[in-house]
Amino acid sequence: MPVNNRIAEDASEIAGWRRELHAVPEILYEVHRTAAYVAEKLHTFGCDEVATGIGRTGVVGVVHGRGGPGGRMIGLRADMDALPINEETGAPYASTLPGAMHACGHDGHMAMLLGAARSLCASRTFEGSVAFIFQPAEEGGAGARAMIEDGLFERFAIAEVYGMHNIPGMEIGTFAIRDTAMMAATDEFSVRLLGHGGHAAIPQQSRDPILTGAALVQALQQIAARNVDPLDSLVVSVTQFHAGFARNVIPDDAMVSGTVRSLREETRVMAEHRIGEIAAGIASAHGCQAEVSYLRNYPVTMNDPGRAAFCAGIAASVVGEAKVDRAVAPLMGGEDFSFMLERKPGAFIFIGNGDSAGLHHARYDFADEAIPYGSSYWVALVERALA
Ligand SMILES: [Zn+2]
Ligand SMILES: [Zn+2]
Repeated sequence: MPVNNRIAEDASEIAGWRRELHAVPEILYEVHRTAAYVAEKLHTFGCDEVATGIGRTGVVGVVHGRGGPGGRMIGLRADMDALPINEETGAPYASTLPGAMHACGHDGHMAMLLGAARSLCASRTFEGSVAFIFQPAEEGGAGARAMIEDGLFERFAIAEVYGMHNIPGMEIGTFAIRDTAMMAATDEFSVRLLGHGGHAAIPQQSRDPILTGAALVQALQQIAARNVDPLDSLVVSVTQFHAGFARNVIPDDAMVSGTVRSLREETRVMAEHRIGEIAAGIASAHGCQAEVSYLRNYPVTMNDPGRAAFCAGIAASVVGEAKVDRAVAPLMGGEDFSFMLERKPGAFIFIGNGDSAGLHHARYDFADEAIPYGSSYWVALVERALA
């Protein structure tokens, strides 16, 4: 089965929704207009239930299959939030809100899922029920976790969850997936180095936190270089170093902060542990003290092997086996659909966005040509999972 006929007929209309959503990008949890737009569409399509305000601004639409309520329910998830970027695409439907832009394609994710929702509401060609989950705050706000903590999985008896993200540089009409970690755990750390300031010309009376910080930045690289199996993956990037206020003063303290990306829980725990050890050791060697904070942010986006194989088959039914990469390399970026996959089995898949600018770039744009493939994938997934 290639692209779904009904979806093909609707494709330009779905692209129109995408462009309407693109023009009013909203940030994190403040997706009020977007959520209202989505909820209104779900009502119009004839969803049996539309719930709003879950996890502050999340929306869930439920549609029952031909047998009515009862039976198995699966969840399909899209993200709604945009980024604090000034758009430079020059598109006629470009952002009308300064300082905000759909630069990650969540406008396209919403449109593709809405397209599938309309088709499935009309056809009801499945047993059981589908929950269309639209979450806020994917971009660093853990909106998926907020929806879960607000009772997403208690209010809706969702047995499995599925998600999708567009990828620039992947040909349009292609999908990619793997049967284990798709995206990394994304953690943050900060080390405050407490020294003893003084006159820059009398360093022997000081405990220099800047020299200590310089040593720490170097030393932290040994975690990825010397503590991890070379065939495993770990990123430790120092991205902030703040210290000092005058050229002739050694300051009292310095702050070194960064991010840690990992694909395995053991590696994540090891990195957290080693940052603490190295910071304390380096600080001690320089006569300073280290205060370390480590924030566990998004977990690993972990696909269930069976569901990933199932999804690869669904994708192949839409675009053909040759257009599906079943063993794509994982990305070291994070994705908060991971919180849903921690609680329910399912799979996250990549869809090609063609030759666009990269995600989070001011000239990025979601490719409307990808819509028929994405919406058809959702429809086929529901019809096969709930056959
Ligand atoms: Zn993003
Ligand atoms: Zn995104």
